[in-house]
Amino acid sequence: MKVGNIELEVELIEKEPPLIRGKCRKVGTDIRTDELIVFVTEGVYGKIYEHALEGERYEVGGALIGDYYKFDSMRFVEITHVLQVDGHNASAIDFTFPAQFWLKKVHPFLEELDGKTELIGTYHTHPGHSAFLSNTDIKFVQNLFNNPWNVTMVIDHINGDEGVFFCSKDRKISKKSGFWIYQ
Ligand SMILES: [Zn+2]
Repeated sequence: MKVGNIELEVELIEKEPPLIRGKCRKVGTDIRTDELIVFVTEGVYGKIYEHALEGERYEVGGALIGDYYKFDSMRFVEITHVLQVDGHNASAIDFTFPAQFWLKKVHPFLEELDGKTELIGTYHTHPGHSAFLSNTDIKFVQNLFNNPWNVTMVIDHINGDEGVFFCSKDRKISKKSGFWIYQ
């Protein structure tokens, strides 16, 4: 988390990943083990997909909320809550998040939670355009979601293509990775 120029490192808690604790299923092609491993609850994934289908051929998006953990040398996030941006954008690949969404929806929600749960990242759809990061998406991620626990999920529900992306501090965007769904 960044406050002005001061870097606040989120404390990493040691925990067994959902893969050890119970049933998981893979979404997308390969899961990049050299990157952050993403686990999404079945409930959250259902909400994201429903939202994507509601948007039909328009882009929709929202915030991914959860916790950041480690297990031996593995770093992972569990995404346990999701918040939707109301309405949709007219474009099919350049989703923008209104400032009011962060102010009125995300921040109050995080304050109500246990105080430990983080804003992990965002999701948005690319209906019929495949799961990739557009130039607008890349700038957004490089500027706002470049922490080691940040995730950007893109879903093309029309072609059944989906995946997650990460951005390092030096603004390098990862290749697309799959992720895990757990109960
Ligand atoms: Zn996009």
